Amino acid sequence: MTPITVAKFGGTSVADYQAMLRCAHIIKNNPDNKLVVVSASAGVTNFLVRLSQPNVPIAEQDEIIKNIGNIQYNITQHLDEQDDLNQQISVLLEELAAYASANALNHSARISDAILSFGEQMSSRIFAQVLQSVRLPGQYFDVRQVMKTNDLYGKAVVNLEKLKANVSTILASKLESNVLVTQGFIGQNDAGYTTTLGRGGSDYSAALLAEALEADNLAIWTDVEGIFTTDPRITDQARSIKEISFGEAAEMATFGAKILHPATLIPAMRQNIPVFVGSSKEPEKGGTRIQQAVASKPTYRSIALRREQTLVTVKSPAMLHASGFLAKVFAVLAKHELSVDLITTSEISVAMTFDNPTGSTQALLNSTVVEELEQLCEVTVEHGLSLVAVVGNNIHQTNGVGTDIFEALSGVNVRMICQGASEHNLCFLVDEQQANLAVEQLHNNLFSVA
Ligand code: ASP
Ligand code: MG
Repeated sequence: MTPITVAKFGGTSVADYQAMLRCAHIIKNNPDNKLVVVSASAGVTNFLVRLSQPNVPIAEQDEIIKNIGNIQYNITQHLDEQDDLNQQISVLLEELAAYASANALNHSARISDAILSFGEQMSSRIFAQVLQSVRLPGQYFDVRQVMKTNDLYGKAVVNLEKLKANVSTILASKLESNVLVTQGFIGQNDAGYTTTLGRGGSDYSAALLAEALEADNLAIWTDVEGIFTTDPRITDQARSIKEISFGEAAEMATFGAKILHPATLIPAMRQNIPVFVGSSKEPEKGGTRIQQAVASKPTYRSIALRREQTLVTVKSPAMLHASGFLAKVFAVLAKHELSVDLITTSEISVAMTFDNPTGSTQALLNSTVVEELEQLCEVTVEHGLSLVAVVGNNIHQTNGVGTDIFEALSGVNVRMICQGASEHNLCFLVDEQQANLAVEQLHNNLFSVA
């Protein structure tokens, strides 16, 4: 079998004609690139999110659809063969308009997901044509034929068995003579309705398809040159990492590095498929390779930062020498589908952190939860904190890690520390205002350029 690379392009990589053309050349430069997964052109999904809300006035619906049309036609106008494609886009925009007015009259999660899917439906058709314009056998493929999901609109769960079976019967053979272009982010339930996998889900779609195809590589093309030692907006000392293990990269994705959708690495790890992350703007600069076995395993690989954390401390004298108290606390959290990130305990209290960003799709910690916890114990809630994770290797068994890290944090108040559960990280909480300073000082100390 010839090698297969699944290549995924994010929204900025397919934002306009120039960007798409660069991506087409990336595909052309490596004949292994057989399946392309695209996001919606940058900005389109945000428009669609607005359109999917209840009661959007008709004038605003029209305005949004016009804006989306402009983004897409600004791309197609550069193509020699554009009539048929423009016709397809115009049909899709009409369909979208019909869904938008139906949604305004009678909002539902099902119609919302149908609306959200149009960005990928359009960008994938356009990109297939751009591939043809550089003389590649680009061919549109509707991912809903294979990406079967449950009914959880907005965060649908993919049926891996069906995906795998469908990929081998419907998709795989087409790769012999075509470069297929398909959609990230969307799927279809048993009833035949379109579903979506959650914001940023295209990375995950690409990883699932790579797994189902037993692909040799997954390439995630974005607008940055791979994964950095820390957020380059915090310190200009941050640099791109050449190679990182799955374990380390998964910790980074979980603890705040925004480059990959956090679930992306799971399918790649299951099938042991190396993942490359690079910039479609400057592919020649290389990027980051994420794989199981890595040549070097430095103690410190990177520093991740996640803002908008909430710390909840529960305190109860009943906890002293008692068992079952934590089970009750977690039962409340489980009921509200809240997931705890860090946890520390003392004699009669437990402190836990929650990722609590405003506008998050996750359930947020709210007053109902706090009231329920208060039935069990005393509860203190603190906002305005940031979680810093130092990610690397063998952190739990290396002499001097504590000294390295906490010496670098002089002048910073560390509110909570977690270490020991993973060989790959040491995490702590700091005040939001001190977060950048903490990361900068740590980066200077742990990654001093020789
Ligand atoms: N277009 C979707 C979003 O913006 C999915 C993706 O880009 O990954 O969230
Ligand atoms: Mg993305």
